[in-house]
Amino acid sequence: MGIAEDWKDLMFDLSCLSKQVAKRRFKKSIKYGWGGLCGYCRCNRATTLDHIKPKSRGGSSLRSNLLPACLECNHSKGTEAWLVWFQRQTFYNETAKELIEEWITNKRFIEEELGDGCINDRTEICPNQSKVRSIKDEPTSLGKDCLATA
Ligand SMILES: [Zn+2]
Repeated sequence: MGIAEDWKDLMFDLSCLSKQVAKRRFKKSIKYGWGGLCGYCRCNRATTLDHIKPKSRGGSSLRSNLLPACLECNHSKGTEAWLVWFQRQTFYNETAKELIEEWITNKRFIEEELGDGCINDRTEICPNQSKVRSIKDEPTSLGKDCLATA
């Protein structure tokens, strides 16, 4: 990359980069969330992301449906329902099952893949926060605080 002639050149590079990097970071953050361990057998070779609900069964590519998994688990599970498959494995345990169930129901992280829709989804998820920050309340409460401290 050369020297940017215009500040907009930098903006262009930034937006191109961030799309690629965002996907990589997205995957990395999922693996990081599991400490690099396979979500199923807990080995430390989680090199793949498994669709908990298989794509072929309508599973999404959202964070809540992606679980770091080792190749062995990913291949062995295939397109089976994860719990049916998991309970048959020798390494099955309740704690791991609960962790996965928690992960699946954690709707806070629905983002990247939704693109523009993410902002609306986030406000829907936090209805209390958007109520607190209503425009009506802000000027009066701010004004009082300023007067009190001054
Ligand atoms: Zn595994």
